[in-house]
Amino acid sequence: MRYDCDVAVVGAGPAGSRTARNLARSGLRVKLLEEHRKIGVPSHCSGLISLRTLREAEIGEDAIIHRINGAFIHGPDGSQVGLDAGSTSAVAIDRVKWDETLCEQAQRDGADLLTARVLNVERTNGGVTLQTLTPNGRRTVTARMVVGADGGHSRVGRSLGLARPGERVYCLGIEARMSVPREDFVHVFVGRDLAPGWFGWIIPTGDGAVRVGIGCRVGNSHKPIDCYRSLASQFDGLFHDIEPIHYYGGTIPLQFAERSYADNVVLVGDAAGQVKPFSGGGIYTGLVGARHAATAVRRAFDKNDLSTKTLAPYEREWKREIGRELQRSRRLRHAGLSLSDAETDLVVNTLRNEGIQQIAARHGDIDYPSRVLTRVARSFPALTTLARISLRHPSATLNLLRAHLPWA
Ligand SMILES: Cc1cc2nc3c(=O)[nH]c(=O)nc-3n(C[C@H](O)[C@H](O)[C@H](O)COP(=O)(O)OP(=O)(O)OC[C@H]3O[C@@H](n4cnc5c(N)ncnc54)[C@H](O)[C@@H]3O)c2cc1C
Repeated sequence: MRYDCDVAVVGAGPAGSRTARNLARSGLRVKLLEEHRKIGVPSHCSGLISLRTLREAEIGEDAIIHRINGAFIHGPDGSQVGLDAGSTSAVAIDRVKWDETLCEQAQRDGADLLTARVLNVERTNGGVTLQTLTPNGRRTVTARMVVGADGGHSRVGRSLGLARPGERVYCLGIEARMSVPREDFVHVFVGRDLAPGWFGWIIPTGDGAVRVGIGCRVGNSHKPIDCYRSLASQFDGLFHDIEPIHYYGGTIPLQFAERSYADNVVLVGDAAGQVKPFSGGGIYTGLVGARHAATAVRRAFDKNDLSTKTLAPYEREWKREIGRELQRSRRLRHAGLSLSDAETDLVVNTLRNEGIQQIAARHGDIDYPSRVLTRVARSFPALTTLARISLRHPSATLNLLRAHLPWA
């Protein structure tokens, strides 16, 4: 049978464009299907990434619109601690331009971009058939293989029986203008009632512009807009002059899809739950996933076998690179969620400790947050014991912290 292409990649976000580029580069006939006419629009992202992400994307530093050197952490009682990395620890990008650049790279290397919303995918004649809606009406696309890079609600995954990632948070993002004490520091707000199951943030992007956000666990009775209103009123000293320009929302999956491959299909990026559970960042992890997805798919074509068995190494390979970090971060997130507001305040105050500040400055890494926490745990063994106890007996934590951490 003659197929329209070898691989249909659904979704021209970072993960899809990157997978499409690598596959086209390797000589396969690739169609990149995107439902929106304008790549990257609408954006549902605060665009904070590491310098490592630029390298992974092979995009130069001219994509940086602002540099971040540290963070202010705000506890529920209003306490504030600054963590200063002393140099660039993260950068803000123009997310629309970022997606456009990645898509252009894919097209330059041979991927064929098609504006089409995928409505359904099914396995047919040893390949796949995609039912799509294009600006000119319905169109069927056939391929030997499909890559689902269509985000956390992946239609590809659902059509082909791959369960979508479980745990997720709803977020509200706001592009705004406001004055902040330091334009090179982000703000992070934590607290059980403030943002149940998640956190709030301010990311300055220079010249008085900011990206504000807040989220809460899906299934919670709270709505992100209500969380934002409480945040702005609780921290009115900071938010008093905020001028919101544009509101947007989005869901972030915080858990791996049960399986990211099956016969004739792989999932990548948010569709596979390749997201950092501690921060919700998924640009870097999606690009890593895309690298492994393209390698696995190319290998399957070389063997002329697109079966589950041949694609299985994909999941082992991406998990070998980032799976451990994602699992650890997920455990850390759950440990954090088990704390009461009073315990969270003590943890925030603990960050004032000079030793911890030095470790955070030297080893802080937004892609691998567990590394800095492991170092802190090694330097302060009492903290590890406390963390273990707190996971088993959450209510005991406050007294233990008070007894063992004189600075808290
Ligand atoms: C409020 C908010 C703030 C965030 N901030 C950050 C941050 O600062 N840093 C960070 O690293 N991450 C952040 N993230 C997460 C980040 O946006 C995602 O992890 C990332 O976009 C995932 O990339 P992706 O390519 O997997 O999916 P997406 O970027 O979601 O791309 C999926 C693409 O598929 C298309 N699509 C979907 N369904 C179909 C269909 N049926 N047919 C055709 N096309 C389809 C979509 O239009 C889209 O273009 C944030 C998320 C939210 C919600």
